[in-house]
Parts: sequence; C-alpha cells; structure tokens
Amino acid sequence: MQLNMRIRKKTQPISLRRSIVILGLALACALLLCVLPMQIGQAQTKPGQTQSSSASHKPVAALSPYIDVHTHLDETNVGGSMQSAMESMPSENLAKIVFMPSPFTLADAKRFDVELLLSAAKKYPGKIAVLGGGGTLNPMIIEAARTGDAGPEVQKKFRERAEAILAAGAVGFGEMAAEHFPSSTPYETAPPDHPLFLLLADIAAQHDVPISIHMEAVPQDIDLPAPLKSPPNPPRLHANIAAFERLLSHNPRAKIIWAHLGWDTTGYRTPELMRRLLEAHPNLFMEIKLDPLDPEKNAPLAEVTLLSFGLASGVSGQIKPEWLRLLTDFQDRFVIGSDQHYPQGSGPQRWQAVVLLFNELPPALRQKIGTENAIRIYHLK
Ligand SMILES: [Zn+2]
Repeated sequence: MQLNMRIRKKTQPISLRRSIVILGLALACALLLCVLPMQIGQAQTKPGQTQSSSASHKPVAALSPYIDVHTHLDETNVGGSMQSAMESMPSENLAKIVFMPSPFTLADAKRFDVELLLSAAKKYPGKIAVLGGGGTLNPMIIEAARTGDAGPEVQKKFRERAEAILAAGAVGFGEMAAEHFPSSTPYETAPPDHPLFLLLADIAAQHDVPISIHMEAVPQDIDLPAPLKSPPNPPRLHANIAAFERLLSHNPRAKIIWAHLGWDTTGYRTPELMRRLLEAHPNLFMEIKLDPLDPEKNAPLAEVTLLSFGLASGVSGQIKPEWLRLLTDFQDRFVIGSDQHYPQGSGPQRWQAVVLLFNELPPALRQKIGTENAIRIYHLK
C-alpha cells in the first residue's frame, strides 16, 4: 500500500504533466480541425462567392436563349411585374416567359386566376404566355379531395371552368398541387389520380395543352422527412407515385409537366426514379428548378457552398454525370421552370440558379431544353 502510495505520489505529477500535454495536443488538433476546413471552405467558396457576388451585381446570362415556363408575380401589381420581367429578359437571355397563379386553396384571400394575368400579358404577344387554374381549378381539387365530393355537379362546374380558362387564352393549366408543403400557400394534398385530375387530363388532351403539377415525390407512405416540421405539415405523407402513374396512363395524350425537378424536398426525386417514369410514360415532361436559398436533396450540381452572406447555395459546380445522362437520354422531355418571382427580390435569384445548370449543358441539349421543347409542348408563338 505504502509503495503504491509512493508510486502514486511520484506518478501524479507525471500523469498531470501528461494530461496537460494530451490536453494541449487535443486543443491543437481541435484548432486544426476547425481552422483547416475553414481554410478549405474559403478556398472552395471563392468561385461561388465570385459567381454570387457577380450574380447579385452582374447576372450570369444563359449561354443560349431559354424560355421560362414557370414564373409567378405580384398579384397587386400585375402590369408592373410583367414590365419588370420584360426588362430582366436581356440580362438573363430569356426569350419567352410563362406566368401562372400559385396553387391556391379556397380559403386564400389572395387567390387569383388567369383573368387577372391575361389583359396585362396581351401587351407582350410572343413574349409572355399564361397558364390558368391555380386560383380556381386547384382549390376545387383540394376541396373535393378533402370533402370526398367529386360528384357530377362538381365535375360539371370543374369542366366549365377549365374550358373557360382555355377560351380566355391560357396556353395550359397551372399551377396545380398534388402534394405541396406550406410556402405562400398552406399545406395541400390531393391524390394525383383524383377524379378531377383525371378529368383535367381529358380536357387538356382534348385541347392539346399541358398541365403543370407541383408534387413532392413520395414513393411509399413515409414519416415526414427532416427538416420539415409537423405542424404545419402532417406527420405522415401518403404515397403518390403509383397514383401519379395512373394519371399518366389515364390519358396518354395529356401532357403532364411535373414541376421542380432538381429541387427535391423529400429525397425521393432521384435520377433513377425519373428515368423509370420517363421511360414508362411518353406523356410525362419535367420542369427544371434550382433554388439558391434552399437547394434541398439530390441536387443536380456537384457543389453546395456557403456564400459570404451566409446563404446556402446548391447551384455551382459541374452537373453530376447521372443527371447529364438523364437530361441527354430524354432531351425532348425537359423544360426550364425556374419558379422565379417578378419583380425580382434581393439576394440570389432562382432564374440565375437554373441558368448556371443550363450553361453546363452541351449546346444542342441547351437548344432543346431551352427553347424547342417549350415551344412544341406549350404551342408558344
Ligand atoms: Zn410549385
């Protein structure tokens, strides 16, 4: 015991010194671990920062003209919003633009539809086209899904409204929602094979116009994926891919445009799933969107960097090979749908994000995805 005590007395200072050394080493390592990635991060973010600061001061235009088939505006100043979009066109190399109402619900006091857009759009023939239904047909679908009433009377009203939207001059239907997390609109859900969606497909096929649908990808029933919160979202999400395929097969002449490819909020909108669906359904098309403030999952570009002002950007670097293969193999099936709002707000713009991806594509592919597909699918003049 005494010996042990003596040893301990002797060894205590040594182990204390050792502890200090170990602590020092650990601190040094921790510092290194902190500092090194910061330095690497700084080195990596330099191109992004240059790009973003140049984007905020001097936009990077598309390398060839493109048509944006998915844009929104300030409904309190439609004329001014369209005017500001027209003024932005040269700096983006934007050739034509399609505006649409958001997918509203019945309760939304701000909801509007094609009538509000068309009179202003007519001032810009060949430049601005309009989709309709987001403010009227979509609320009818969401409401019918909620109440379970999609009977003959509801269907009759729905058809009349859809026909009126096209007669007024809309080039198709949008923005519709089958699964939509809260943003400017509340959480919305309706099965994509709901009777009113099937009816809309028939009407769209009859008139050869497209339907733009917002639907988060949910292959099977799942718990709400992180970082989404419940409320305002439901704790569980219902499978929608099989129902979406039933919509696609219901009327193969109906052109269904699945909005927001490249902005995957659930983690299931993978190039593999998109390839399978595009192979199986020739009437399926997709709008490409990237959000510089909210890159989400399965981003098509290689780098996710942090910009100097602390905002995430998933919109720099080269296009990932599996995405380039997908766009190349189905090059007649994609259009640009940036989800840009006009007038542009401050900070990184959505059109800029998708243009950085667009500029990664070979010229022949850019020509198809930029302009040719949109002109053919939407019959743009
Ligand atoms: Zn949307």
